[in-house]
Amino acid sequence: MKEAAPVYGGIEAGGTKWVCAVADAGGRLRDTEVIPTTTPETTIAGATRFFQRHEGLAAIGVGTFGPVDLRPASSTYGHITATPKPGWAYTDVVSPLRAALGVPVRVDTDVNAAALGEWRRGAGEGLATFAYITVGTGIGAGAVVNGRLVHGLLHPEFGHIRIPHDLGRDPFAGSCPFHGDCLEGLASGEAMRRRWGRPAEHVDDPSAWELEAEYLALAVVNLTYTLSPERVIVGGGVPKHPSLLPAVRARVLGLAAGYPAPGDAAAMGGYVVGPSLGDRSGVVGAVELARDATGSHGHDAGSSLLE
Ligand code: ZN
Repeated sequence: MKEAAPVYGGIEAGGTKWVCAVADAGGRLRDTEVIPTTTPETTIAGATRFFQRHEGLAAIGVGTFGPVDLRPASSTYGHITATPKPGWAYTDVVSPLRAALGVPVRVDTDVNAAALGEWRRGAGEGLATFAYITVGTGIGAGAVVNGRLVHGLLHPEFGHIRIPHDLGRDPFAGSCPFHGDCLEGLASGEAMRRRWGRPAEHVDDPSAWELEAEYLALAVVNLTYTLSPERVIVGGGVPKHPSLLPAVRARVLGLAAGYPAPGDAAAMGGYVVGPSLGDRSGVVGAVELARDATGSHGHDAGSSLLE
Protein backbone atom coordinates (compact mmCIF):
# COMPACT_ATOMS: atom_id res chain seq x y z
CA MET A 1 0.00 0.00 0.00
CA LYS A 2 1.30 3.44 -0.94
CA GLU A 3 1.91 5.75 2.02
CA ALA A 4 -0.14 8.96 2.07
CA ALA A 5 1.82 12.12 1.22
CA PRO A 6 2.59 14.10 4.40
CA VAL A 7 0.20 16.88 5.37
CA TYR A 8 0.68 19.51 8.08
CA GLY A 9 -1.97 20.67 10.48
CA GLY A 10 -2.48 24.17 11.83
CA ILE A 11 -4.82 25.58 14.46
CA GLU A 12 -5.48 29.26 15.03
CA ALA A 13 -6.86 28.82 18.55
CA GLY A 14 -8.86 31.93 19.35
CA GLY A 15 -11.15 32.85 22.18
CA THR A 16 -14.29 32.66 20.02
CA LYS A 17 -13.29 30.14 17.34
CA TRP A 18 -10.62 27.63 16.43
CA VAL A 19 -9.67 27.71 12.74
CA CYS A 20 -8.20 24.34 11.76
CA ALA A 21 -6.41 23.64 8.47
CA VAL A 22 -4.31 21.04 6.76
CA ALA A 23 -1.72 21.93 4.15
CA ASP A 24 0.43 19.96 1.74
CA ALA A 25 4.22 19.79 1.88
CA GLY A 26 4.42 23.08 -0.02
CA GLY A 27 2.36 24.81 2.67
CA ARG A 28 -0.76 25.23 0.50
CA LEU A 29 -4.02 24.91 2.46
CA ARG A 30 -6.07 21.86 1.39
CA ASP A 31 -8.94 21.86 3.89
CA THR A 32 -10.16 24.08 6.71
CA GLU A 33 -12.82 23.92 9.39
CA VAL A 34 -14.00 26.47 11.94
CA ILE A 35 -14.90 25.14 15.40
CA PRO A 36 -16.56 27.43 17.96
CA THR A 37 -14.57 27.83 21.17
CA THR A 38 -16.70 26.31 23.93
CA THR A 39 -15.20 24.21 26.73
CA PRO A 40 -11.60 23.03 26.33
CA GLU A 41 -12.68 19.35 26.12
CA THR A 42 -15.30 19.90 23.39
CA THR A 43 -13.16 22.31 21.39
CA ILE A 44 -10.04 20.12 21.43
CA ALA A 45 -12.14 17.04 20.59
CA GLY A 46 -13.63 18.87 17.60
CA ALA A 47 -10.17 19.79 16.31
CA THR A 48 -8.97 16.21 16.86
CA ARG A 49 -11.83 14.82 14.75
CA PHE A 50 -10.98 17.23 11.92
CA PHE A 51 -7.34 16.09 11.82
CA GLN A 52 -8.27 12.39 12.13
CA ARG A 53 -10.02 12.71 8.78
CA HIS A 54 -6.68 13.47 7.06
CA GLU A 55 -4.19 10.74 6.22
CA GLY A 56 -0.46 11.34 6.48
CA LEU A 57 -0.61 13.97 9.22
CA ALA A 58 3.03 14.76 10.10
CA ALA A 59 2.72 17.46 12.78
CA ILE A 60 0.46 20.15 14.17
CA GLY A 61 1.20 23.78 14.88
CA VAL A 62 -0.98 25.77 17.26
CA GLY A 63 -1.14 29.55 17.46
CA THR A 64 -3.13 30.19 20.60
CA PHE A 65 -4.57 32.98 22.63
CA GLY A 66 -2.68 33.37 25.88
CA PRO A 67 -0.92 33.90 28.06
CA VAL A 68 0.72 30.56 27.24
CA ASP A 69 3.81 28.74 28.51
CA LEU A 70 6.23 28.49 25.56
CA ARG A 71 9.33 27.21 27.37
CA PRO A 72 10.05 23.84 25.68
CA ALA A 73 11.67 22.40 28.85
CA SER A 74 8.79 23.41 31.12
CA SER A 75 6.45 20.76 32.55
CA THR A 76 3.57 23.06 31.60
CA TYR A 77 4.75 23.69 27.99
CA GLY A 78 1.74 24.52 25.84
CA HIS A 79 -0.54 25.31 28.75
CA ILE A 80 -2.65 28.44 28.51
CA THR A 81 -2.01 30.08 31.90
CA ALA A 82 -3.79 32.96 33.65
CA THR A 83 -6.40 33.79 31.01
CA PRO A 84 -9.56 35.56 32.18
CA LYS A 85 -11.50 33.44 29.64
CA PRO A 86 -13.88 31.26 31.73
CA GLY A 87 -12.94 27.57 31.84
CA TRP A 88 -9.64 27.99 29.98
CA ALA A 89 -7.15 28.99 32.69
CA TYR A 90 -4.34 26.41 33.00
CA THR A 91 -5.58 24.37 30.00
CA ASP A 92 -3.07 22.05 28.32
CA VAL A 93 -3.62 22.43 24.56
CA VAL A 94 -0.61 20.32 23.49
CA SER A 95 -0.85 16.94 25.29
CA PRO A 96 -4.44 16.03 24.29
CA LEU A 97 -3.68 16.68 20.61
CA ARG A 98 -0.36 14.82 20.76
CA ALA A 99 -1.93 11.86 22.58
CA ALA A 100 -4.92 11.58 20.24
CA LEU A 101 -3.06 12.13 16.97
CA GLY A 102 0.43 10.75 17.75
CA VAL A 103 2.34 13.57 16.03
CA PRO A 104 4.62 16.40 17.23
CA VAL A 105 2.72 19.52 18.33
CA ARG A 106 4.41 22.93 18.36
CA VAL A 107 2.75 25.92 19.99
CA ASP A 108 3.25 29.68 19.85
CA THR A 109 1.10 32.71 20.51
CA ASP A 110 -1.66 33.52 18.02
CA VAL A 111 0.11 36.74 17.08
CA ASN A 112 3.53 35.13 16.68
CA ALA A 113 1.86 32.54 14.42
CA ALA A 114 0.26 35.33 12.38
CA ALA A 115 3.63 37.08 12.16
CA LEU A 116 5.20 33.80 10.98
CA GLY A 117 2.48 33.37 8.33
CA GLU A 118 3.03 36.90 7.01
CA TRP A 119 6.81 36.39 7.15
CA ARG A 120 6.83 33.19 5.07
CA ARG A 121 3.94 34.00 2.71
CA GLY A 122 2.76 37.57 3.13
CA ALA A 123 3.61 41.19 3.89
CA GLY A 124 6.70 40.30 5.95
CA GLU A 125 8.46 38.29 3.25
CA GLY A 126 12.15 39.09 2.97
CA LEU A 127 12.27 41.21 6.13
CA ALA A 128 14.60 40.43 9.06
CA THR A 129 12.79 42.61 11.62
CA PHE A 130 9.10 43.49 11.61
CA ALA A 131 6.06 43.41 13.86
CA TYR A 132 2.51 42.17 13.44
CA ILE A 133 -0.20 43.81 15.57
CA THR A 134 -3.72 42.46 15.77
CA VAL A 135 -6.59 44.67 16.88
CA GLY A 136 -9.67 42.57 17.50
CA THR A 137 -11.48 41.67 20.71
CA GLY A 138 -8.05 42.14 22.31
CA ILE A 139 -4.75 43.59 21.11
CA GLY A 140 -1.52 41.66 20.71
CA ALA A 141 1.69 41.80 18.75
CA GLY A 142 4.13 39.25 17.44
CA ALA A 143 7.59 40.21 16.29
CA VAL A 144 10.42 38.85 14.22
CA VAL A 145 13.75 40.40 15.21
CA ASN A 146 16.93 39.59 13.28
CA GLY A 147 15.18 36.63 11.66
CA ARG A 148 13.70 35.05 14.80
CA LEU A 149 10.31 35.17 16.48
CA VAL A 150 10.62 36.93 19.85
CA HIS A 151 9.74 34.89 22.95
CA GLY A 152 11.86 36.00 25.90
CA LEU A 153 10.67 35.81 29.50
CA LEU A 154 7.07 34.87 28.61
CA HIS A 155 6.22 36.29 25.20
CA PRO A 156 5.50 39.86 24.14
CA GLU A 157 2.25 41.18 25.64
CA PHE A 158 2.16 44.33 23.61
CA GLY A 159 -1.55 44.93 24.15
CA HIS A 160 -0.86 45.76 27.77
CA ILE A 161 1.61 48.62 27.28
CA ARG A 162 0.60 51.97 28.75
CA ILE A 163 -0.10 54.89 26.44
CA PRO A 164 -1.14 58.46 27.24
CA HIS A 165 -4.84 58.66 28.12
CA ASP A 166 -6.39 62.13 27.93
CA LEU A 167 -9.42 61.81 30.22
CA GLY A 168 -10.78 65.12 28.91
CA ARG A 169 -10.99 63.78 25.36
CA ASP A 170 -11.80 60.19 26.34
CA PRO A 171 -13.37 59.73 29.80
CA PHE A 172 -13.82 55.95 29.22
CA ALA A 173 -12.00 54.13 32.07
CA GLY A 174 -10.79 51.26 29.86
CA SER A 175 -11.80 47.62 29.45
CA CYS A 176 -8.71 45.63 30.48
CA PRO A 177 -9.51 43.40 33.49
CA PHE A 178 -5.90 43.74 34.66
CA HIS A 179 -4.96 47.36 33.92
CA GLY A 180 -8.03 49.33 32.93
CA ASP A 181 -6.69 51.84 30.42
CA CYS A 182 -3.72 50.03 28.89
CA LEU A 183 -3.56 49.98 25.06
CA GLU A 184 -5.95 47.00 24.88
CA GLY A 185 -8.22 48.63 27.45
CA LEU A 186 -8.48 51.77 25.30
CA ALA A 187 -8.24 50.61 21.69
CA SER A 188 -9.41 46.98 21.35
CA GLY A 189 -12.70 46.04 19.73
CA GLU A 190 -14.03 45.32 23.21
CA ALA A 191 -13.01 48.82 24.37
CA MET A 192 -14.80 50.34 21.37
CA ARG A 193 -17.90 48.26 22.04
CA ARG A 194 -18.07 49.38 25.66
CA ARG A 195 -17.19 53.03 25.01
CA TRP A 196 -19.62 53.53 22.12
CA GLY A 197 -22.30 51.00 23.09
CA ARG A 198 -22.11 48.97 19.87
CA PRO A 199 -19.63 46.70 18.06
CA ALA A 200 -16.71 48.49 16.37
CA GLU A 201 -18.01 47.65 12.88
CA HIS A 202 -21.20 49.59 13.68
CA VAL A 203 -19.43 52.67 15.04
CA ASP A 204 -19.65 55.39 12.37
CA ASP A 205 -18.83 58.61 14.24
CA PRO A 206 -15.64 59.97 12.58
CA SER A 207 -14.35 61.28 15.91
CA ALA A 208 -14.48 57.72 17.30
CA TRP A 209 -12.18 56.58 14.50
CA GLU A 210 -9.89 59.59 14.97
CA LEU A 211 -9.49 58.57 18.62
CA GLU A 212 -8.82 54.95 17.60
CA ALA A 213 -6.20 56.12 15.08
CA GLU A 214 -4.53 58.21 17.80
CA TYR A 215 -4.20 55.20 20.12
CA LEU A 216 -2.94 52.85 17.42
CA ALA A 217 -0.47 55.48 16.16
CA LEU A 218 0.91 55.81 19.70
CA ALA A 219 1.28 52.02 19.74
CA VAL A 220 3.06 51.98 16.36
CA VAL A 221 5.44 54.77 17.43
CA ASN A 222 6.30 52.93 20.66
CA LEU A 223 6.94 49.76 18.69
CA THR A 224 9.02 51.68 16.16
CA TYR A 225 11.29 53.19 18.79
CA THR A 226 11.57 49.94 20.77
CA LEU A 227 12.19 47.30 18.09
CA SER A 228 13.13 49.33 15.00
CA PRO A 229 10.94 47.18 12.75
CA GLU A 230 11.22 47.56 8.99
CA ARG A 231 7.43 47.27 8.72
CA VAL A 232 4.41 47.12 11.01
CA ILE A 233 1.57 44.90 9.81
CA VAL A 234 -1.78 45.76 11.40
CA GLY A 235 -4.38 42.96 11.25
CA GLY A 236 -7.55 41.92 13.04
CA GLY A 237 -11.14 43.04 12.64
CA VAL A 238 -11.01 46.66 13.84
CA PRO A 239 -8.51 47.93 11.19
CA LYS A 240 -10.88 46.80 8.41
CA HIS A 241 -12.61 50.17 8.83
CA PRO A 242 -11.48 51.94 5.64
CA SER A 243 -10.42 55.24 7.20
CA LEU A 244 -8.35 53.73 10.01
CA LEU A 245 -4.95 52.77 8.55
CA PRO A 246 -4.58 55.99 6.51
CA ALA A 247 -5.37 57.96 9.69
CA VAL A 248 -2.86 55.89 11.69
CA ARG A 249 -0.14 56.62 9.10
CA ALA A 250 -0.85 60.35 9.27
CA ARG A 251 -0.79 60.38 13.09
CA VAL A 252 2.45 58.32 13.21
CA LEU A 253 4.07 61.06 11.12
CA GLY A 254 2.68 63.71 13.46
CA LEU A 255 3.87 61.91 16.58
CA ALA A 256 7.32 61.25 15.11
CA ALA A 257 7.54 65.05 14.77
CA GLY A 258 10.34 65.08 12.22
CA TYR A 259 12.47 62.39 13.85
CA PRO A 260 14.01 60.31 11.00
CA ALA A 261 12.30 57.00 11.88
CA PRO A 262 9.95 55.64 10.67
CA GLY A 263 10.29 57.82 7.58
CA ASP A 264 8.41 60.39 5.55
CA ALA A 265 4.88 60.34 4.13
CA ALA A 266 6.02 58.43 1.05
CA ALA A 267 7.63 55.72 3.18
CA MET A 268 4.62 55.49 5.48
CA GLY A 269 2.44 53.71 2.87
CA GLY A 270 4.79 50.72 2.99
CA TYR A 271 5.53 51.00 6.69
CA VAL A 272 2.08 50.59 8.27
CA VAL A 273 0.27 47.99 6.16
CA GLY A 274 -2.55 45.47 6.36
CA PRO A 275 -1.81 41.72 6.27
CA SER A 276 -1.40 40.24 2.76
CA LEU A 277 -3.05 37.00 3.95
CA GLY A 278 -6.13 38.77 5.31
CA ASP A 279 -7.81 36.63 7.97
CA ARG A 280 -5.61 33.63 7.14
CA SER A 281 -2.29 34.89 8.59
CA GLY A 282 -2.77 32.98 11.85
CA VAL A 283 -3.72 29.61 10.44
CA VAL A 284 -1.10 29.80 7.68
CA GLY A 285 1.48 30.57 10.39
CA ALA A 286 0.24 27.66 12.50
CA VAL A 287 0.84 25.33 9.55
CA GLU A 288 4.35 26.80 9.27
CA LEU A 289 4.93 25.93 12.95
CA ALA A 290 4.00 22.33 12.08
CA ARG A 291 6.39 22.33 9.11
CA ASP A 292 9.12 23.66 11.37
CA ALA A 293 8.37 20.96 13.95
CA THR A 294 9.29 18.29 11.40
CA GLY A 295 12.17 20.25 9.91
CA SER A 296 10.39 20.34 6.54
CA HIS A 297 10.83 24.07 6.11
CA GLY A 298 13.86 24.93 4.00
CA HIS A 299 14.91 27.91 6.12
CA ASP A 300 15.97 25.59 8.95
CA ALA A 301 19.64 24.80 8.71
CA GLY A 302 20.23 21.29 7.40
CA SER A 303 16.63 20.25 7.00
CA SER A 304 16.55 20.64 3.24
CA LEU A 305 19.52 18.24 2.94
CA LEU A 306 17.44 15.47 4.46
CA GLU A 307 14.59 15.68 1.95
ZN1 ZN B 1 -4.03 45.44 30.13
